[in-house]
Amino acid sequence: MAHNCIANVELSIDNKFGMIARTTVPVKRGEILFISYSDVNQGTRERRYSLSKFKYFECNCVRCCDPTECQTYLSALKCQKCSEGNVLPMKPLDHCSDWKCDHCSHRLTYFEVDLTIFKLQFAYKTMDHNDVESIESFMQSFSSLVHPNHYVFTKARRSLNRLYGSNPPYRMETVIQSPVLWKRKLAICQKLLSVDDVLRPGLSVARAWTLGEMCGPFMLQAKTLYQKKYISQEEYQERIQQGREIREESIRILSLEPAESAEGMAANWLKRDCYLQQWLG
Ligand SMILES: [Zn+2]
Ligand SMILES: [Zn+2]
Repeated sequence: MAHNCIANVELSIDNKFGMIARTTVPVKRGEILFISYSDVNQGTRERRYSLSKFKYFECNCVRCCDPTECQTYLSALKCQKCSEGNVLPMKPLDHCSDWKCDHCSHRLTYFEVDLTIFKLQFAYKTMDHNDVESIESFMQSFSSLVHPNHYVFTKARRSLNRLYGSNPPYRMETVIQSPVLWKRKLAICQKLLSVDDVLRPGLSVARAWTLGEMCGPFMLQAKTLYQKKYISQEEYQERIQQGREIREESIRILSLEPAESAEGMAANWLKRDCYLQQWLG
C-alpha cells in the first residue's frame, strides 16, 4: 500500500501471525489505500526526515504541505516576541526554511527552531515516563515555548492518559474521587481526540483508546454538574447519552481488532456494566 501521513488503513497482526488490513474511513471504489510508513505522532520535519532517510522518498502529502498540519499545529512553537502567535515553517517541504509567527511575522531560522526542539526532546527523553508529576512538570516548564498540541506534548499527554487511572497513586478509584484528577483526565482526552480526529480519523485504534478513556470522566462530569444544579435534568440525560455513544464507539472500534489483543480485551472490559458503575456509582 502507498504511504500518506494521514492514513486510511490500519494494520494489525492476529495470534496466528496473519496480517489484517482494515480501512478506518469510508473509501470509494478506485480510491488509493494508504498506510503510514512513518510515525504519525511525529511532526512534519521529523516524519519527512525519516521517510527520506529510510524510505528514499520525499512526502508531499496534504499534511506535509500544510504548515499547520491540517490545523492541528502539531509542530508549532509559541512566538516569544508577541506571545500570541504560532511560529510555523514558511516552506514546510524545505528542511532549511525559516519559520514565521502567524501574528507578528517574527522570524526564526531553522537552526533556532532546532535548538528549542532539541531542548524539548532532551527534557522529554530524560523524564520518568511512568511518573505523573515528572510529565506534568515537563509540560508546565515548556508550555510557554510550544503550541499545546505540539507533537512532543501530545505524546506526553498519551502517557498521562494511561497513568491517570492505572498507576498508583493515581489508580482509578483515586481519580474518580478527586474532581481535580478526573477533570484533568477529561481535558487530556479532549485534547488528544481533537488531534486524533484529524490525523487518525475514523475507526483508528488511537481514537478508540482515547474515546474509551474519555467516556467515564465525561459522564462523571455530567453527573457532578447535575448534582450541583448547573444543568437541567434534560441536559444531564443528553450528556449521559453522549457519554454512552462515546463508549459504544470505542467498543465498536476496539472489537474490530483481534480478540486476544490488548484492544480486544479493552473492548470486553468497556462492555461490562461494572465499568460504568465505577464512574457513576
Ligand atoms: Zn506527508
Ligand atoms: Zn509573534
